[in-house]
Formats: sequence, C-alpha cells, structure tokens
Amino acid sequence: STPGGTRSKEEKIVVTVRLRPLSKREISLKDQVAWECVDDNTIMYKPPPHERVNQPTSFTFDRVFGPSCSTESVYEGVKNMALSALSGINATIFAYGQTSSGKTYTMRGITEKAVNDIYEHIMNTPERDFSMKISGLEIYNENVRDLLNSETGHNLKLLDDPEKGTVVDKLVEEKVNNDQHLRHLIGICEAQRQVGETALNDTSSRSHQIIRLTIESTMRENADCIRSFVASLNFVDLAGSERASQTQADGARLREGCHINLSLMTLTTVIRKLSVGKRSGHIPYRDSKLTRILQHSLGGNARTAIICTLSPALGHVEQSRNTLYFATRAK
Ligand code: ADP
Ligand code: MG
Repeated sequence: STPGGTRSKEEKIVVTVRLRPLSKREISLKDQVAWECVDDNTIMYKPPPHERVNQPTSFTFDRVFGPSCSTESVYEGVKNMALSALSGINATIFAYGQTSSGKTYTMRGITEKAVNDIYEHIMNTPERDFSMKISGLEIYNENVRDLLNSETGHNLKLLDDPEKGTVVDKLVEEKVNNDQHLRHLIGICEAQRQVGETALNDTSSRSHQIIRLTIESTMRENADCIRSFVASLNFVDLAGSERASQTQADGARLREGCHINLSLMTLTTVIRKLSVGKRSGHIPYRDSKLTRILQHSLGGNARTAIICTLSPALGHVEQSRNTLYFATRAK
C-alpha cells in the first residue's frame, strides 16, 4: 500500500482495521491490552504470559490503525472510495465490529470528513453543476425506519423499481442546499437514532444505520459534451457483529432473546462472495433488507470500504478474533 493508506483506485473492496484505546470501563475492570498494531498492515495478538495459543496470532490488511491513530488517518484510507461518488461511482463505507468497539465514533468522524472533502471538491470544480440529496434510515429487526421522518416513517416497504432497482417506499430524500444544511440533516439522523436507543433499550447494538448521499452533476458549458454523473455514497454503521457470530446460535443466548441479525448475516455472506469474485455464483442480496437496499452500491462497479473496529481488551478477544476473521474473508 501507498502512504495515505489506499491502494490503486481500481481496488473495489478495501478492508482496514481500527484498534481503539482501552476504554475507562475496561481500565476500571483491570482488563489488559491483547492486540498490537506491529506495522501499517499487521495486527498481532499478544497473549498473556503462559497462554498457549493454537490459533493465528497475526492478521494482515490493506491498513491497520492503532490506538493512537486519528480518525483523520482512518479517513485517508477510505477517502478515494468516498470521493468516487462525485464521478458517478456508487460507494459504501461500513463500520463493522462488536458493540462498543468504536463503529459509531469512527463513522461519525468519517462522515464529517467526507462532507468537508465533497464540498471542497464542489468548490474546486466550477465547470460542473452539482446537486445533492440525503436520506437516512435505520433497520431494526428487518423493519425500516426513516431517520428524517419520525412522524410516519415506520415499517417502510421496499419496492422493485424497473429503473432504480430496490427503492424504499416513502423514504424522505431531502435536497441539500449547502454544506451547513447537510451537516444539519446528518445531525437529525444521528439524533433520531439516539431517540430510538433510549426508547428501546440497546437498539444501537441491533440496528443498522444508513446515511445515503445521492450526488448528481452535469457539465455547465459546451452543450455537445454533456456528461452527467449520478451516484450514491452510503455511510453504514452496522449492528454489533456479535449479532452475526456463531456463538449466538447456542440455546442459552437465544433464550435471552439475542437473535441472529438476518441483515448482518446476509451482508457477511454477500461480502464474502463478492470478495471471492466471479466464481462465487449466486449472491443473496435479496435475503435481507440491508443487502437489498445496498445492492447497487455493493459489487458490480461499486466501491466498498469496510472499517473493522476492535476493542484491544483481553476480555473481548473472542469477538475481536471473529471480527478479524470476517475482515480476512472480506479482502
Ligand atoms: P460502537 O458504535 O461500536 O458500539 P462506539 O463508537 O459507541 O462503539 O464507541 C464506544 C466508546 O468508545 C465511546 O465512548 C467512544 O467515544 C469510545 N471510542 C471508540 N473509538 C475510539 C477511539 N478510536 N478513540 C477514543 N475513543 C473511542
Ligand atoms: Mg454504535
């Protein structure tokens, strides 16, 4: 990989890992750091003394970011992906990881930096006219909720449009006037998600949030070479990855009501098949709401960035391993 963290623009799936610092809670529980980023591409398990490890201890990715790395540098790793939407290529940036590993923290920062860059690009491209729309939704238990319409935006249906593919019926798409307006609308989506979180205990660990920008542009002058671009850029803060892990399938956990998250399971299958490439056969986009909504922004010509977030704590080692296995299969 090159400095700045991205490989060539042709790369269709970029997988990076972000290891956060120990949290106050983990420190108060006297938990220990079990993972270390040994270079820009490698994360390593550091077992406590005398532990016998018979699983892999070292994992390699496009980039790994350690606890002292800023969101700015994590963003640099996915920047090209985000900006490809300005030239008509659909792109999706995911945060994947267990609950409390830093998905929301990372995604908010990434979204903010992408918004800055998008407007900088628009300012620096006076020869094109840009227009932008935003929508925000949450998928909870396979129910779709509109984050820009708290009044009536519940249980929205998915429809198959012959031209646009899957569309979310009645989802508000707000026209964006300028960068401040965009930040305001993103703020509304984030606040709405939090409202749900307090009303229904723990929803953020079970729900997926998608903020979608649809960016359109046309050449201002020279009417005989009008080239229009339109593309979506999706920021996806996924449900906690513990919802997709095998351990959730055992009886005890099921009795506690921790059901496997269909959308997350399907997404992991879709991404695994996409990373295998042409030989993978049928890709089950239609098996879940999340993958249906994102179908046109995954695979094909679209660009995908997956930021896998990790707690460094020894107490979370099993989930961290699961995240790294997912990340490895997604490459
Ligand atoms: P998730 O969305 O995966 O459940 P959060 O993003 O809410 O996790 O992060 C859990 C806690 O850890 C939050 O208090 C957040 O501010 C903090 N945190 C996450 N990542 C980092 C980081 N890279 N540096 C510092 N604090 C972080
Ligand atoms: Mg979160």
